[in-house]
Amino acid sequence: MNSTDFSSLSLKPDLLKNLSSLGYESMTPIQALSLPIILSGEDVIGQGKTGSGKTAAFGLGLLQKLDTTSFKAQSLVLCPTRELADQVASEIRKLARAIHNIKVLTLCGGTPFGPQIGSLEHGTHIVVGTPGRIEEHLRKGTLKLDNINTLVLDEADRMLDMGFQDTIDQIIEKIPSHRQTLLFSATYPDEIASITDRVMQNPTVVEASSVDEESTIKQYFHLTNTDDERMIALRLLLVKHKPDSALVFCNTKNDTQDVADELAYYKFYAISIHGDLDQRERDQALIRFSNGSVSVLVATDVAARGLDIDDLDMVINFNIAHDPEVHTHRIGRTGRAGKHGIACTLYSDREMRKLDALEIDLAGCNDPLPNDNYLDKPLKKPTMTTLKIDGGKKQKLRPGDIVGGLTGKGGIPGDKIGKINVGSNWSYVAVSSELVKTALKKIQNDKLKGKAFRVRILS
Ligand code: AMP
Repeated sequence: MNSTDFSSLSLKPDLLKNLSSLGYESMTPIQALSLPIILSGEDVIGQGKTGSGKTAAFGLGLLQKLDTTSFKAQSLVLCPTRELADQVASEIRKLARAIHNIKVLTLCGGTPFGPQIGSLEHGTHIVVGTPGRIEEHLRKGTLKLDNINTLVLDEADRMLDMGFQDTIDQIIEKIPSHRQTLLFSATYPDEIASITDRVMQNPTVVEASSVDEESTIKQYFHLTNTDDERMIALRLLLVKHKPDSALVFCNTKNDTQDVADELAYYKFYAISIHGDLDQRERDQALIRFSNGSVSVLVATDVAARGLDIDDLDMVINFNIAHDPEVHTHRIGRTGRAGKHGIACTLYSDREMRKLDALEIDLAGCNDPLPNDNYLDKPLKKPTMTTLKIDGGKKQKLRPGDIVGGLTGKGGIPGDKIGKINVGSNWSYVAVSSELVKTALKKIQNDKLKGKAFRVRILS
């Protein structure tokens, strides 16, 4: 018997038989690593993207311990969007085909409450939903979580991006602490660790794809002796590599502003952060860069310190760093989590000493820049656009309200919504650029929680 055979697991015979009828011949890597632990009842943190087979991994875990004689909700799966919740529910239903009369209920925003309450009254075994709507049901008393024995946080990183941390905390408070918690996430920002520390017990971390996820940063160096040359080189690099997110380092505060202004003049989506900005301006700049609606951020080392963005396509050193350690730190912001990163460094003859200090074999780091005609090529637009809403926590707006206000009839699909940041009197939401007008119209016409808020597109 092979260790990737489902029959190596102690699954109920009905579940096992159904797997072969679904054509699941053997376990995917994440299933092979996580299922034995999940079935033993322990907590698991799984690194798995859509397509890895993670849904079946936790789905089989839920189904194996389900008590079908009780019609109380025993498993809760939290997902960032309605689309994902629908996919998860349909995969669980497929896996459950062979077990008689299993009820899987989806509870998501953007759909009417009434029918959901009706379904809940008929009893359910497994609830799959989005945090905002689940929390509303808890407040109304229409959903009880007293009998939940398994909690799944699916695409946890996406849920945090969408600002659901507080809502998830409120939901977890209502679930018995004696439970199994399974968390799946494609990436591991620091905030995930803060959740897992609080809500999980001795979790085992399972990384299915760690073998081929070696980080790769390709470094290039470009000699530029005048200010003009340097600026043109920067533009050429951005046109050539078309990064969705590039961090440009300058050595001085004044340079960051000048460089961002010049890039903006040439129609790049660029912004700078430096010590002279007030907190609101700085927050706004960071939010727009991290939600993908501005593709170039120009910063000094000090200003970039608080930047918690680990998914950069490219780092450009507009000025070479004074110190090799700073250089390493800068370029380490790209090529994370197995992605390919590009790090380009501009230097002049006068900066040769700093270059030598890096002790790099320049032979492999030479990538001649295209000629200046290349600058006429069209620039890549950011995939996301930010909507600013003049309402936030003080107006009782929550991320779920914003998702609800954007989706549904006449709105946009949940998977076209990016990061959501809710502040005290304002909120920012990133939506796919091609749908920004639809999103704006929907939120203006249908209002948010019945209230009209001023909403505008940040250009
Ligand atoms: P997921 O990553 O959970 O979205 O799953 C991706 C797809 O793979 C789904 O369509 C599943 O039905 C399918 N799948 C999951 N596990 C297996 C397996 N062991 N063998 C074949 N297909 C699978």
